[in-house]
Order: sequence, then C-alpha cells, then structure tokens
Amino acid sequence: MFMRRVIRRKKSGYVLGFVLFSIGLILLFAVLWKAWLNLSASNDTFSVLWSYLWSEQLDFGLGVRLKLIHLTIMSATALVLGIVVLALSRQIFSVYAGENVLLQCPFCKNHWKARRASGFAECPHCRQFVEPIEVKAGK
Ligand SMILES: [Zn+2]
Repeated sequence: MFMRRVIRRKKSGYVLGFVLFSIGLILLFAVLWKAWLNLSASNDTFSVLWSYLWSEQLDFGLGVRLKLIHLTIMSATALVLGIVVLALSRQIFSVYAGENVLLQCPFCKNHWKARRASGFAECPHCRQFVEPIEVKAGK
C-alpha cells in the first residue's frame, strides 16, 4: 500500500514535469512565432527581437499585463523546471521500474513476482503487509 502511494506520487511528478515542459515549450514557441511574424523583414534580427520582447505587452485582462520578455522568461523557467522535475522523477522512477524479482512471503510462504521493491509490500496471497524475502532475481 505504501509502495503504491509512492509510485503514484512519482507518476504525478512525471505528469507535472511533462505539463510544465509542454506549457513552457508552447508559450515560448508562441512568443517567438508572434515576434517572428513582426520581425521577419529585419536584418538585425536579434537586437530587434530583444527590443520587441521588451516593448510588446500582452493584456490578459483583469489588469494583468505582461511584457513579452516576462512571458519568455516564465516559459523558459517552466521549460527548465519541467526538465528538472522530469529528470528527478525518472531517476526515482527507474528504481521501481527495475527487473522483476521473485519474492516470498514470510508468513504464508507463497511466491509472487514483483518489481524489485525495497522494504515492505502487500502479499497478494494472504494480504499481509510484509517484508518479503527475495528468492531470486529474474525476468
Ligand atoms: Zn503471504
């Protein structure tokens, strides 16, 4: 039960990272695309782009106004944050997503296959919350 909760939390971290990454990517792309449409004729693209990002404002209503540069920074931050969260969840995730092992319940002596689990697990035979004995590693 505990393991299941941990895995669910890692999964939500994975989803969160992916959502952040997507939002950042889409926003950044939208900002640059919008800027690009206004700048494509220019020669000195980068400096014009830079001043454009600083001057152009987006009105989100309710008095919320953001300069494009702020939107760019926010989306870049979301992008980086998303990558970090993804990397972290993936690292933790891989601990649980390892190879299958054969476990033995110390109470009912039944065997079952499971992902390599450190610590405690719920025995599928007697429904006890046990610390299973690792019989052998395998597929
Ligand atoms: Zn058991």
